[in-house]
Amino acid sequence: MVKRRKIDQRMVVISLDAVGARDLAYLKTLPNFQKLRAQSGYCDHVESVYPSITYPAHTSIVTGKKPLHHGVVNNLQLQPGRKSPDWMWQKHFIHGKTLYEAAAEKGYVTASILWPVTGKSGIRYCVPEIFANHWWQNQVTVSATNGPVLYQIELLKKFGHLIDGIKQPQLDNFVYAAADYTIRKYDPQLFLIHLTDVDTNRHLYGLDAPQIKEALERHDERLGGICQALAETGDMEKTTIVVLGDHCQIDTHTVLYPNYYLKKAGLIRATADGKIKDYDFIAQHCDGSCYIYAGKKLKKQMTIMSTEEKEAVMKQLRGCLQKIPHLHEIFSRKHAAALGADGDCICMLEAEPGYYFQNGMEKPQEEVDQMQGERMLATHGYLPTLPEYETFFMMSGYGVKQGEIPKMYLWDEGPTLASVLGVSLPDTDGKIIEQLLK
Ligand SMILES: [Zn+2]
Repeated sequence: MVKRRKIDQRMVVISLDAVGARDLAYLKTLPNFQKLRAQSGYCDHVESVYPSITYPAHTSIVTGKKPLHHGVVNNLQLQPGRKSPDWMWQKHFIHGKTLYEAAAEKGYVTASILWPVTGKSGIRYCVPEIFANHWWQNQVTVSATNGPVLYQIELLKKFGHLIDGIKQPQLDNFVYAAADYTIRKYDPQLFLIHLTDVDTNRHLYGLDAPQIKEALERHDERLGGICQALAETGDMEKTTIVVLGDHCQIDTHTVLYPNYYLKKAGLIRATADGKIKDYDFIAQHCDGSCYIYAGKKLKKQMTIMSTEEKEAVMKQLRGCLQKIPHLHEIFSRKHAAALGADGDCICMLEAEPGYYFQNGMEKPQEEVDQMQGERMLATHGYLPTLPEYETFFMMSGYGVKQGEIPKMYLWDEGPTLASVLGVSLPDTDGKIIEQLLK
């Protein structure tokens, strides 16, 4: 039996990773999505963040801020030379207050399953998205040190058999089973759920591969199941259901390696076997875009350099970057910050559609078809204003006024959801979309 609680309303936020506005035509033909949509306030033109990747995007959703203001400017931490850098898994990477903290302060019981950047977040029932990334770690220890132990053990015992690494649809089948169980047993009042079936399948097979329709159909079944669990456990008059995407993807065929050019120009120094010794500049990829950062030593030197000396350093960098083919744009630091990306970079590269970046430096570029390792036939990270690249937002139930909003930004979602919960988020870039509120 659930104890009497301070708050009598509930909100479930379901993020369908890499589901874009372009998927709505098909989603609208599927029964559970269709039913939710008919009761919703929604926006079919939601502009994502820059870089348009999962961790910055999900952090913008829960803080109402652009990446440069919330601090999660990439999925990856900057760890030059590491083949598999750590991701920004933990909450301490986020500057400022999140939706789940504001809700918990008011008395909401919070939960999240695989929502990005929730390691050590204090969310009551939480399975953080994190994986073992060092030889001395295993999945159980990293999960246990980053989220509540007993809850995660309980879910693993019951549903662990559904998981097969990060393979889909197994992973989302686990998330769904765990979410259904959590609603029925703990009835959380703010529940963040992150499903990545479409994202994974787009990376593997391409933007509009037949596997995508199948993944959308599975999402529709999961949505139906979650709605049913909610209906069977609580007051639907007091329940808000939110379904949203974080970014879309585009098809890709070639990987570019900016660090190859930086190394060739002597701006990265490496040992004969390819280990980075030190560097003046380094590229840090976000797939469709790529940050260029200055090394610590050069950064320090630049603070005491004359304008001419600085200009000479930047000229050498520009000359090097201009040799990289298939760049759509090189954004200055100022321009990158104005787009919402990391203002601490030196500059930022945006690839032409079809090309994306990785951190390697052994070769200048590689066709995806020829790749041995992690090949992606579609990806994200590009400018959020690309055509057919928008995502969507819809919510129904308690506190929601039905109707359509012509345009929204991802960072408008946090303040809008906070308003439904009767809480507020400080210093947001986004605004409350009043037209969606009752
Ligand atoms: Zn994503």
